[in-house]
Amino acid sequence: MMETAIGLLLGALASWLITFCYYRKSSNEVPEWFKPILKKLPPEKPSRNQLLKLFQDALNEGEVSLHPLLGHVACPDCKAPLEDLEEKVFGDDNVTLVSVKCPHCGWEQTEEVG
Ligand SMILES: [Zn+2]
Repeated sequence: MMETAIGLLLGALASWLITFCYYRKSSNEVPEWFKPILKKLPPEKPSRNQLLKLFQDALNEGEVSLHPLLGHVACPDCKAPLEDLEEKVFGDDNVTLVSVKCPHCGWEQTEEVG
């Protein structure tokens, strides 16, 4: 289940990562949460599996953490760190919803919990 979440996450992140790390080389713009992984990246473009391994290692070592509900490590749109995201809980007797919103780009996701 964790692998699936990370796989999906990586699918979305892979092109962004490669752009950031290997074409633009603008490490200043890399978000804080990604720096522990960045340090471990090989000089050549890594394969998807290598990225997956680096990512899992970083998770194992507690260098990055996934949002417990959404499985993201950062805002999916602008890559703002999880700490910046705003959570709102609402619902009624039957259902509880958690809405997570990024104050930087307006990204928002609502999930049913419990
Ligand atoms: Zn955002």
